[in-house]
Amino acid sequence: MLFRRSSEENPGKKAGILERLKNALGSTKDNLVNRIESLISSRREIDNDFLEELEGILLGADIGAPATTRIMSDIRAQIKAGLVKTPDDVRTAIRKQLLSILQTSCNTGAAVHDAPQEVWMVVGVNGTGKTTTCGKLAARQAQGGHRVLICAADTFRPAAIEQLAVWAQRSSSELIKSKIGADPSAVLHDALAAAGARNVDLVIVDTAGRLHTRSNLMQELEKMKRVAGRKIEGAPHEVLLVIDATTGQNGLSQAKEFMKAIGITGLIVTKLDGTAKGGVLFGICQDLRIPVRYIGVGEELEDLLDFSPEAFVDSLFSEKPGSLLNIP
Ligand code: GDP
Repeated sequence: MLFRRSSEENPGKKAGILERLKNALGSTKDNLVNRIESLISSRREIDNDFLEELEGILLGADIGAPATTRIMSDIRAQIKAGLVKTPDDVRTAIRKQLLSILQTSCNTGAAVHDAPQEVWMVVGVNGTGKTTTCGKLAARQAQGGHRVLICAADTFRPAAIEQLAVWAQRSSSELIKSKIGADPSAVLHDALAAAGARNVDLVIVDTAGRLHTRSNLMQELEKMKRVAGRKIEGAPHEVLLVIDATTGQNGLSQAKEFMKAIGITGLIVTKLDGTAKGGVLFGICQDLRIPVRYIGVGEELEDLLDFSPEAFVDSLFSEKPGSLLNIP
């Protein structure tokens, strides 16, 4: 069974994604690109003041220190080499660097596996959008013709289980849940048994994200990974970490803890709509070096987009944010 990116076969869909991204990234564009544009248009030459101000803009846009340092040293090197001479040249240099950070740090394609049955675990701190993302992922894969089963393994939050029941219904997926307080690994075990019996292609596992018992949480996630691996060869095929973009650099620190404790295979950055902190995605790519698979741009089922570095940078630098009215 191949799980493909939704826009891979459909160029029209790619154009639609760009428009939706432009819409979602409006505040991030204001905070990052529009401030850079103001700086460029207010200066005739590049001096120390200009470079300091530029650095301040990058840091203020949540890009983070390592990515900012990388961009600034590249620009300084290009100035020295005579390749960047005017403030206008800086625009092109930054755009190239931002794209390169995303491209080199992220494997842009969603993983394509060929296992007959796959298990994707979705992990992250509560409130990041994990449960919603499980619903969105289920809807996408179900629309692609795959038979999907959602496993409600966050057994501590009745609201999460109720929410998943709604998402499962909307996405025409099956749902395996259990009583509140049940052992998440036991629920996963039942879900994988059901998946085998019902010929399901993909099992999406929603997990708990309680912060106050972090070491227990990590142990529980490890145990679930072992259970999955024992039931289905190669499982979990993906461990997807959900990061809330609105938390900026804090989200990045949380991600590092998850990475240290359990292996993460891909990232999903949510809530990029309406936040000015979308620049954190560059920091995430620079620091974590794990592919961003999807981005969340709203609360509805269709608000999960394939992540494309080119589309992300193009939409930030686009000159026509108003063209959003053309959303298909
Ligand atoms: P969980 O605790 O990690 O499972 O988080 P939930 O899935 O319950 O989501 C928490 C809140 O974030 C809900 O109100 C969701 O509707 C909202 N949410 C999730 N993803 C997005 C997104 O991409 N954009 C926006 N604006 N809200 C989102």
